[in-house]
Amino acid sequence: MKKLLQWGLGLMTVALVTAFVPATPFPSMADETASGQEAQEVRNGWIDENLGPGVARWVDENGNISEQPGKHEDGAGDEAQNSSEVQDVNDGTEAEGQQETTSQESQEQAPAGRQIDPSRPMVALTFDDGPFAPVGNQIMDCLAQYGGKATFFVVGSRVSSYKTEMQRMVAEGHEIGNHTHEHKNLTKLNGAQIQSQINLCNDVVQAACGVRPALVRPPGGAKNSTVLANAQAPVIMWSIDTRDWKTRNAAKTVNAVMSQVRDGDIVLMHELYSQSGAAALEIIPRLTEAGYQLVTVSEMAALRGGAAPGGVYFHFYP
Ligand SMILES: [Zn+2]
Repeated sequence: MKKLLQWGLGLMTVALVTAFVPATPFPSMADETASGQEAQEVRNGWIDENLGPGVARWVDENGNISEQPGKHEDGAGDEAQNSSEVQDVNDGTEAEGQQETTSQESQEQAPAGRQIDPSRPMVALTFDDGPFAPVGNQIMDCLAQYGGKATFFVVGSRVSSYKTEMQRMVAEGHEIGNHTHEHKNLTKLNGAQIQSQINLCNDVVQAACGVRPALVRPPGGAKNSTVLANAQAPVIMWSIDTRDWKTRNAAKTVNAVMSQVRDGDIVLMHELYSQSGAAALEIIPRLTEAGYQLVTVSEMAALRGGAAPGGVYFHFYP
């Protein structure tokens, strides 16, 4: 009954958001790597800035459109302003302190008795752009059935709408990663703005479910030296791009994983689409039956050489 209620609320949210999105001025994209023409349709409130791949804005449940990120011409000035901030961050013990804190918190996310066999193959499934309970709960139901864990890279501005889902992620040992507060293209921001996007997301996640994300995935995978210097956490990319946001086809998403999966892969999917949820329901049992342990990114990193703040990780191959 509770789940039905959550579904209903989720559907209402989508309907509201869709109704409020202007039809033409802000074509949408939820897209991690989209071209301009792919960004023409409205999708669940993500709206394209026409500023390049991975740039999106969120329309909240009340139809409010969040602030525009900086434009290209502002970006140039920001770059110059950056260098001193970059040094500040690189140079202190503060970053190390944060690393200790976050790794402690990652351990707290894993339930007692969690056993991973380092000699057996493992894969990290990652779901971006949530939280979104209608799909996220479906994925977690299936993971619970097969004893798997996943990593959810959430957008901070969405978190307060899905606190219950966030708390379930923590309770069931999944990892919550940082996908910025407003899904901004971080390469368009200066150091202070990057830190703000990441810290705001960390703050709302911590307020919602008591853990602070230890990992960052930049929207669109967009990164440069300024992003890495200001991420203050390992930057997690992916080795299998399912293109689920584009195909919206569960069979194609399943095939993208099963046709190329190998030990140590990080799989990129998105939490916003029912087809991605349907694909996960097939991928989870098939990977498990093929002998893969479904682990969080931090679990895999810990067994495969670790991950350091500012480092970029596409996979953790043995
Ligand atoms: Zn994203």
